[in-house]
Amino acid sequence: MSGLNATHDPARQSWVESANAKGTDFPIQNLPYGVFSQDDGPRRVGVAIGEMILDLTAAEAAGLLRPAPTPVFDGGTLNALMARPPDDWSRTRAAVAALLDAEAGPRDDLVLLRQDAVRMHMPVFVRGFTDFYASKEHATNVGAMFRDPKNALLPNWLHIPIGYNGRASTVVVSGTGIRRPLGQIKGPDDAAPRLGPTARLDIELELGALVGTPSSMGQPISVARAQEMIFGFVLLNDWSARDVQVWEYQPLGPFQAKAFGTTISPWIVTREALEPYRVPTPERGTPLLPYLREEGDYNYDIRLEIDIAPAGGTPRTVSRTNACHLYYAAAQQLAHHAISGCAMETGDLLGSGTISGPDRDSYGSLLEMTWNGSDPLDLGGVRRGFLENGDMVRLRGWCEGAVRIGFGVCEGTILPAPEQPA
Ligand code: MN
Repeated sequence: MSGLNATHDPARQSWVESANAKGTDFPIQNLPYGVFSQDDGPRRVGVAIGEMILDLTAAEAAGLLRPAPTPVFDGGTLNALMARPPDDWSRTRAAVAALLDAEAGPRDDLVLLRQDAVRMHMPVFVRGFTDFYASKEHATNVGAMFRDPKNALLPNWLHIPIGYNGRASTVVVSGTGIRRPLGQIKGPDDAAPRLGPTARLDIELELGALVGTPSSMGQPISVARAQEMIFGFVLLNDWSARDVQVWEYQPLGPFQAKAFGTTISPWIVTREALEPYRVPTPERGTPLLPYLREEGDYNYDIRLEIDIAPAGGTPRTVSRTNACHLYYAAAQQLAHHAISGCAMETGDLLGSGTISGPDRDSYGSLLEMTWNGSDPLDLGGVRRGFLENGDMVRLRGWCEGAVRIGFGVCEGTILPAPEQPA
């Protein structure tokens, strides 16, 4: 199902007027999937179209949409559709586009709701969460700060998509409050560690890839096959406690510093919707082993921004970067993940790693933007090294071309730390 088709035609318009407005994240060429509820009712699957949501659970029940022989939109998550063969994803997208096409409507047999009148939920049951480290600029900056500026990039980095197994249990949808975590902290001059709330609460701007098609235990997969297994992408904020991280991370990598919360955007932008925006990975001086080499364009030209509103203040954009900076594409991360025979499952989430560009105003974490707090950001008279309680962080992302393929927003506000256990 690679390549472009009628669902990508930039001339196509919808009878839902707001989908044709310039600057909308959700034109008829996008059609991202999400899960919503209304008035404490059951969770339903929908697709974003302009300012509205098309209720796919209702459309399927009414026989207007038949993605598979048995219902896939009645379970309150996208997992059932994601588990279907990629041809079914493509057929469903084409069928939804046909229902919403300007030439087909307006029609009153579809349930259409305003996005601002519903509550969004996790779009997917996340089976496993793995976080990578695929931006060379980010890995170089962190290596310079935490270890040695002269040998910032560890020797394995240019050969392996470095990652760690994170926690699926604390992946939450945009809008969920994030409680400042407790953790073990030991400063360089402290004689002993203590337990306390993190004083270095950070963000990581990432892209999340969602696995649709599973792979079997013991069965490696190629990069091309891995690409076909990916259902879609979300914005992802991998909240991080830097003071906890620096004390705990050796020798097995991050643990509690990243286990307390990961926020994703509510809309899954399908891989098919992103087809027109494929770009190559950055040039490599060091060739990859054959199982990681890609033929063709596996990165995406997705513009990314970070807004921060200090507690009670107004948001301002602190960073602008692009997913094209990723040294390893999602398909390469997935191929590496499975090379040992690790089974990949429907609903697995792969974080790209912090996406940093070359300059301070394109970095994807406060750690880098403030150089570990030493050079605080100015947020309109308020200064921040790291996040304070009440601060709101919002990630945004979109592809810009003949139409705009947007991801919506991925946001969260910092809540005070819990009481320490007695
Ligand atoms: Mn991360």
